[in-house]
Amino acid sequence: MAAQAGISTHWRKQVEAVLGEQEVEGVRLRDLDGGASTDLPCSGFFAYVGLAPASGFLPATIARDAEGRLLTDAALQTSMPGVYAAGAVRAGYGGLLTHAMADGVAAARSACARIRA
Ligand SMILES: Cc1cc2nc3c(=O)[nH]c(=O)nc-3n(C[C@H](O)[C@H](O)[C@H](O)COP(=O)(O)OP(=O)(O)OC[C@H]3O[C@@H](n4cnc5c(N)ncnc54)[C@H](O)[C@@H]3O)c2cc1C
Repeated sequence: MAAQAGISTHWRKQVEAVLGEQEVEGVRLRDLDGGASTDLPCSGFFAYVGLAPASGFLPATIARDAEGRLLTDAALQTSMPGVYAAGAVRAGYGGLLTHAMADGVAAARSACARIRA
């Protein structure tokens, strides 16, 4: 990616603000090593954040993959009976919103079936 024309890589920077009123004019980058913030002119912005699964609130005994995603069986039940996982927090989910929705339906059905059994 670094070799692509028009693309520059800015390591150890956090986006502090998207600049512009009517359209994107740039981003303000905070230096994570304590340097001054700098404004980088640009005409578009794609926020590629939110990839880390928020599974930290669950018991550590529930099985996870190396990235912290919860392992589930075919019924979307985790290794702790009665705890189901759906969507982005689940290892093996498809990656799209529609997959997360389908997971939610399947997990709810499994949970209901468990209650009725
Ligand atoms: C940058 C990016 C771009 C994407 N673009 C697309 C796209 O174009 N099309 C597409 O189909 N999909 C896209 N996706 C994927 C899509 O966003 C996910 O598939 C979907 O959001 C997963 O839904 P979810 O409900 O599993 O998780 P999330 O949407 O992450 O929802 C989880 C919710 O749980 C809440 N939560 C977390 N911990 C707790 C807690 N302890 N108690 C209560 N609530 C809690 C969070 O605050 C959050 O609201 C994109 C994802 C990313 C990161």
